[in-house]
Amino acid sequence: MASGSYRNGGGGGGGGAAPRLSAKLDRQNSGAHATPKASSKSRPPATPGAAAGGFRRSSSGPLTSTAAGRGDAGVPGRVRVAVRLRPRNGEESVADADFGDCVELQPELKRLKLRKNNWESETYEFDEVLTEFASQKRVYEVVAKPVVESVLEGYNGTVMAYGQTGTGKTFTLGRLGEEDTAARGIMVRAMEDILADISPETDSVSVSYLQLYMETIQDLLDPVNDNIAIIEDPKTGDVSLPGATIVEIRDQKSFVDLLTLGEAHRFAANTKLNTESSRSHAILMVQVRRAVKGRHDTELNFHGENGHTSPLVSSFRPPIVRKGKLVVVDLAGSERIDKSGSEGHTLEEAKSINLSLSALGKCINALAENSPHVPIRDSKLTRLLKDSFGGTARTSLVVTIGPSPRHRGETASTIMFGQRAMKVENMVKLKEEFDYKSLCRRLDIELDKLIAENERQQKEFEDEVARIRIEAQNHVAEAERKYIKALETEKLKYQQDYIDSIRKLEEKWMVTQQSSSNNKTKAEHHPQSAEKTCDNKAPSESDADEINEVKKLLENEKFLRQSTEEEVNDLKNQVLHWKKLEAAGSAEVAKLQKMLDNEASQKEKLEEEIAALKSQLLQLSFEADETRRSLDRGGSGKIFPGLDSLMSQARNSQLRDQGNGPKPPVAKLFEQVGLQKILSLLESEDADVRVHAVKVVANLAAEEANQEKIVEAGGLTSLLVLLRSSEDETIRRVAAGAIANLAMNETNQELIMSQGGISLLSMTAADAEDPQTLRMVAGAIANLCGNDKLQARLRGEGGVKALLGMVKCGHPDVLAQVARGIANFAKCESRAATQGSTIVLGGCK
Ligand code: ADP
Ligand code: MG
Repeated sequence: MASGSYRNGGGGGGGGAAPRLSAKLDRQNSGAHATPKASSKSRPPATPGAAAGGFRRSSSGPLTSTAAGRGDAGVPGRVRVAVRLRPRNGEESVADADFGDCVELQPELKRLKLRKNNWESETYEFDEVLTEFASQKRVYEVVAKPVVESVLEGYNGTVMAYGQTGTGKTFTLGRLGEEDTAARGIMVRAMEDILADISPETDSVSVSYLQLYMETIQDLLDPVNDNIAIIEDPKTGDVSLPGATIVEIRDQKSFVDLLTLGEAHRFAANTKLNTESSRSHAILMVQVRRAVKGRHDTELNFHGENGHTSPLVSSFRPPIVRKGKLVVVDLAGSERIDKSGSEGHTLEEAKSINLSLSALGKCINALAENSPHVPIRDSKLTRLLKDSFGGTARTSLVVTIGPSPRHRGETASTIMFGQRAMKVENMVKLKEEFDYKSLCRRLDIELDKLIAENERQQKEFEDEVARIRIEAQNHVAEAERKYIKALETEKLKYQQDYIDSIRKLEEKWMVTQQSSSNNKTKAEHHPQSAEKTCDNKAPSESDADEINEVKKLLENEKFLRQSTEEEVNDLKNQVLHWKKLEAAGSAEVAKLQKMLDNEASQKEKLEEEIAALKSQLLQLSFEADETRRSLDRGGSGKIFPGLDSLMSQARNSQLRDQGNGPKPPVAKLFEQVGLQKILSLLESEDADVRVHAVKVVANLAAEEANQEKIVEAGGLTSLLVLLRSSEDETIRRVAAGAIANLAMNETNQELIMSQGGISLLSMTAADAEDPQTLRMVAGAIANLCGNDKLQARLRGEGGVKALLGMVKCGHPDVLAQVARGIANFAKCESRAATQGSTIVLGGCK
């Protein structure tokens, strides 16, 4: 770069403006340190740097949402950089005696000339150029005061010193100035200003003091804490050191004491680590928390339902706090560490010592060049200073340089660092938020008060209730007492009256008695005077009557009263009795319910038994009928004409004699037990039951009216099954009889045939020995023979042959049925012959 050329921070820092080295002018000049007041009232003046290089990305900087919707994007605020030249020290005065300084300062022009050689130099422009004569006070006012003011107004602020070891970083920042107040450094002066500005009642100031060495953060206020973690808020990106000691500061002295203590710990720590303080970074963090007074936020909308703010609600409005954080960083010496390890460091140590500082340089380069990647995460220092460069803080950097031409290289690199830092743009933001914690505390107190008040009222109320209750009880007791007393008095009075009146009446009666007996005696002794006394007799008699009557009345009354009392006692006893009964009642009901259930099941069983008994009864009557029937057999188609006629006789006579009298037993059974049930008994396992049942069915089948029902209910099928399967001759006989009766009907005849009835009947005929069985079978076949349609089948399936085979039996009853069958068959044959077909009684002979 040509000699005399200007180098500055991207045109920032009020280039060209007449430099007045005062904080006031400074603020007017660039806006980089514009106070928040000015920025909130009007748009902040755009900085030339912002216009030229564009705003810094805010993505790398944390955004603290500000209270009441003031979370705007912030105000652009470039990093301010001042350069400070240390005066020649004793050593330099001797060693460099023959040489001029490597720099030449033009403070009024805010320029610095770095000499290359005797005739060449490069000029750099800074926000402030502080000569070796600049007082500590002036340095504070130029470099730090605007930042401190911002912090007091709720912004984050950073003041940092960068430079070669021995150039005056600690002198600038950390001098305590205990002997000479003029020598006080930035830390002490900043705290003085802060403490002077805050209200101790509502605001608070707290500090942490840390050292960063070889990527380890140590607590200078509590050396035991020697590895403090950096915590990043995932939402806001804010970094914090929750492990660090935080001490609340109330006065300047305690702060100075704290710094002294911190320095002592720093020295001890460095001795232990065998290093110098120039190799570590010292970081002072001052948190200023201020309540915003008298401002009600209109955007809060703490309104009631009707849109009006209730007094209660407004008292619950969270107060607003501003939290400004001042970070003062005394960096390690910027000179390169000898990598040969000549200073007692290994190569690894040298790298590690340099890590944070070189990472800071890289970040500032990246920010200055608007590079898309800023390696903030590369070191702890850059993470801690995240908000200071490219973030939301107001940042002021002082680069310290020495005059010695021997260190020209380090001085040049320090100047270049400062120049690059000047290009870094921050977006300063107000750190204002609702103080929910304090609202919470306030509400807690309020709640406590309300609870206490409520408890007090509750107690009062309970006491009052107890008092009223006792009073009422007393009243009741008093009234009862009075009532009993009055009752007693009244009772006594009446008893007395009663006794008195009785006594009087008795006396009266006695007197009357006496006078009447006197009169009697007189009359006996002086009969002549009897006449006279007769005159008095009337009144004495009437008295006696009266007494008697009263007595009677009294007796009556007494009796009535007694009887009433008895009655009352009686009623009382009854009531007691009823109550007992009622108590026992529910148990009784449950018991009865149970009994009822038992009864129902027993009833069912009994019904079954009755059915069985009825069928037995029926059998007896059937047998009696059979005996009678043997006397009266005829040629009718009905096999059980006896029972049939008996029943019809009985029915007729009943109809004649009694009109609607009781029905015959079988019909009654049919109705009561039900056909289905009777038929089901045909399949009973009990042979006796089967016999009775088949007899009943046979009897029913003798009546034409029942035949259809029996067939419909499957009775015919059941009978055929019995005929086929039963071993019992009686059953087969009765079943054949029943089938014979059913076979009187043409439809049934066809059904019998279709269900293989003819072969069953033939089989039965072949097996049977009892002529009565043969009679039944012959009767059945004879009936079938009367059906024209069945002729061929009867012949084909051996029906006719079976009929003729029964002739062998020779019993007249059987012969009669065989004859009837043949006659029926012949009738059909002749009918068929007249219709033109020839039928031969094949195998009939
Ligand atoms: P650093 O912290 O940068 O290593 P120091 O602050 O320790 O440097 O300063 C080194 C020496 O120079 C100290 O003795 C200090 O008193 C002195 N010194 C630094 N700056 C000034 C100054 N502006 N005026 C007078 N003495 C100074
Ligand atoms: Mg130092």
